[in-house]
Amino acid sequence: MNLDFSPQELQFRDEVRAWIKEAFDPGLKALMARTKNGYLDKEGQVRWQKKLFERGWAAPNWPEEYGGPGWSPAQRYLFQAETAAAGCPTVSPMGLKMVAPVIMKYGTPAQKARFLPPILRSDIWWCQGYSEPNSGSDLASLQMRAERGNDAHGEHYILNGSKIWTTHAQWADWMFCLVRTSRDARRQDGISFVLVDMRTPGITVAPLPTLDGPVEGQQEVNQVFFEDVRVPVENRIGEEGLGWTYAKYLLEFERGGSYGPMLRQQLAKVARIAEKEPGEDGARLLDDPGFRRKLAELHMRAAALEASELRLFSNVSSGTSIGAASSMLKLVGTETIQAISELAVEAAGPYALPFVQDGWGELQGRATGPKVGPDYAAPLAPRYFNYRKASIYAGSNEIQRNIIAKLVLGL
Ligand SMILES: Cc1cc2nc3c(=O)[nH]c(=O)nc-3n(C[C@H](O)[C@H](O)[C@H](O)COP(=O)(O)OP(=O)(O)OC[C@H]3O[C@@H](n4cnc5c(N)ncnc54)[C@H](O)[C@@H]3O)c2cc1C
Repeated sequence: MNLDFSPQELQFRDEVRAWIKEAFDPGLKALMARTKNGYLDKEGQVRWQKKLFERGWAAPNWPEEYGGPGWSPAQRYLFQAETAAAGCPTVSPMGLKMVAPVIMKYGTPAQKARFLPPILRSDIWWCQGYSEPNSGSDLASLQMRAERGNDAHGEHYILNGSKIWTTHAQWADWMFCLVRTSRDARRQDGISFVLVDMRTPGITVAPLPTLDGPVEGQQEVNQVFFEDVRVPVENRIGEEGLGWTYAKYLLEFERGGSYGPMLRQQLAKVARIAEKEPGEDGARLLDDPGFRRKLAELHMRAAALEASELRLFSNVSSGTSIGAASSMLKLVGTETIQAISELAVEAAGPYALPFVQDGWGELQGRATGPKVGPDYAAPLAPRYFNYRKASIYAGSNEIQRNIIAKLVLGL
């Protein structure tokens, strides 16, 4: 088996590298230095995504007919590896990677024409309205009511209830939302998938604080309240009552991202910190056998995951998902990123923690105390706390284990 890249693929890699050098400008780099989770504030995020759009690279996983670049699996991998290695921002997944494939597969021609072009241009921001206060892992128990009506303005649903843990709802123009349109049927059959304009009267977005502390421009999760919110029936995707099918299809894309290149980049960062920081005996931490063993184990986990990703992704063409195998990648990817963020804190030692408050203030130009360590340590503690979420969102890792047992191992 020949695992080398062809000369054309290497030429493509160089093209990506050259583009990143230009596009990933000092302003974006400064924002990335502060990020706790790979995302920027909305303005920075949109600026980056629009640069990708202008180059024709906004949606590597979309089929060409909708504006995808028509890359081979090797090109998609190289693009991801290069952007991760350079520390570029993560693309917001809700529009481009999550709702877009559902609209492509189940939307009407009118819905495709209305939503796909502005998603590709990053002109509209999306949020995901799945979880409710009492419906997370057991999502099919969701209660948000959608009563159907008809008046002079046309057929519509009236939504009442609330969604929770809604990432970046405060920035969103649209929400893709699961609602209950029938209580008579089996729980899964009474759910519909609707697209809600976030400017509709009756919607309130309330921020929820997180463990990593408040950081300007980086509010992450919210609760969204709906009081008599009117949604035209034409905004429903597919058939009424079949929303569960579309919702599960979307989750394959939410969980089916690749982690390998990002893990390698994070491990390289940990090694750089350990190169600078002395251990207890004053020697370089990187030379400590115990630390080296931990680092090597994580490298092996990341390499094994990347090999699985390459195997799985090389079998699917653009616009398709890897199915239930996405649960394996989500499980191993998130556990490894958590372990790396933990090792990073260990490597930075006492510098990591005091920067939770003062470091962020310092980086935002409003220092509240003396600087206690180098800048590279500033985002480490917030990042460590932030990544505790990774084994919960997109379906908790316990739920992923259940899915793997049932659908991958057939137990
Ligand atoms: C940072 C973050 C961002 C998020 N963003 C969004 C978003 O944008 N949109 C959205 O809709 N949701 C979002 N979520 C919600 C996320 O999908 C849910 O938190 C998740 O599905 C778990 O649901 P829950 O919080 O209600 O926990 P619960 O379902 O109450 O689970 C509690 C615990 O019990 C375990 N458990 C539950 N059932 C089982 C079972 N059958 N077998 C074994 N263990 C079980 C779980 O693993 C967990 O440890 C986000 C969550 C986080 C943390």
